[in-house]
Amino acid sequence: MSTITYNPFEIAQEQFDSVASVLELDDGLRKLLRQPMKEIHFTIPVKMDDGTTQVFKAFRIKHNDARGPGKGGIRFHPHETADTVRALSMWMTWKCAVVDIPLGGAKGGVICDPHNLSLSEQERLCRGYIRQLANQLGPNMDVPAPDIMTNGQHMLWMLDEYEVITGGRYPGMITGKPVGMGGSLGRTEATGFGVIYVLKDYLQQNNISIEATSASLQGFGNVAEYVARMYTQLGGKVLAVSCWNQAESKSFTFKKEEGCDIEELASIKDSYGSIDKEKALELGYELLPGDDWIKQDVDILIPAALENQITPAVFPLISSQVKIICEAANGPTTPDSDILIRQRGITLLPDFLCNAGGVTCSYFEQVQCNMNYFWDKDEVLEKLERNMTNAFRAVYKLAQEKQLYMRDAAYIIAINRVANATKLRGWA
Ligand code: GLU
Repeated sequence: MSTITYNPFEIAQEQFDSVASVLELDDGLRKLLRQPMKEIHFTIPVKMDDGTTQVFKAFRIKHNDARGPGKGGIRFHPHETADTVRALSMWMTWKCAVVDIPLGGAKGGVICDPHNLSLSEQERLCRGYIRQLANQLGPNMDVPAPDIMTNGQHMLWMLDEYEVITGGRYPGMITGKPVGMGGSLGRTEATGFGVIYVLKDYLQQNNISIEATSASLQGFGNVAEYVARMYTQLGGKVLAVSCWNQAESKSFTFKKEEGCDIEELASIKDSYGSIDKEKALELGYELLPGDDWIKQDVDILIPAALENQITPAVFPLISSQVKIICEAANGPTTPDSDILIRQRGITLLPDFLCNAGGVTCSYFEQVQCNMNYFWDKDEVLEKLERNMTNAFRAVYKLAQEKQLYMRDAAYIIAINRVANATKLRGWA
């Protein structure tokens, strides 16, 4: 196995630099766009249930807000780093730009493992996060959302703390809120469904029937679950799903030759996406090592967990049957693997295009909050599908016309939009 460690921020910069050269961006603009414009690193003291105080390290990083307020999730993760948040904030800028919504890029993180925190400790952590940042956030400044291991309840505690501090009601200050409390119908499903809207359009344009395809997924959190639900609803077969097992601190792959029943798997997972091993065995699932998701004889691989999962070390394990890698996670593929993917002629549907459904629906949530009038679910999903399909078609057309790798085509469109906005504002 390779011992290379990948730094997501270096990867994000490398990806940016190569496209900046193609676009011949001038030096000042490059310097501005290859790093975040604002970083806040802080600590959150939390009174624990046992009376002790624990101090958590946290970040909020805004990459660029030339096209609109910063936008992006807050992750709770024991291995969070400043560089990961930097990379993710940068990817948010390109994500909002590629789907052409008027928002910039930001991201937040707290180094913690919510598995080990009671609900009241999590509430105090959320409120503490906002107490430190209230003057840096707001509907017109920077708008957080859920991400890995954060959910609608966390968002609502954060909103409530913000509103206590500011003394008003600002539902557009945060997205991913529970429905009925300023949240949008469809937001929970949006990221996963968006991935499949892109995949579906790609398959249709290539005359491939989705019913004839099979997929293997990494992850079973919110994104992966709804990817799997929509994909199977359209007739695709999910052969295997891999996910983290908290009790054993390792991941497992759950496989069923006739196809996984997603409803069933969802009913035996916890709120962080860990599937109950014993129950899965009782239901007839085959239990394989966590990394085996990538070895499956399927047509489509869908990494839907964390960054840096498809590396040259594991690339040779990918079956020759695999024709498409559909990136639902942020940054799952390392640049050295991009080269191998291209060489093998696998189609890559890139992350910041594929998984932009979440932030697109967050934008709809803000629009609905501003109007104080909420759409029904069909209306939300119909608009979401239209936005995702249009964005995909523009990227695919450019890739076809110029014979580009789809990640590069998506970058060209996104970086062009952000570069233009930045220049029009007179920043560079
Ligand atoms: N966390 C999601 C993402 O990475 C959604 C961000 C948002 O809705 O602002 O795209």
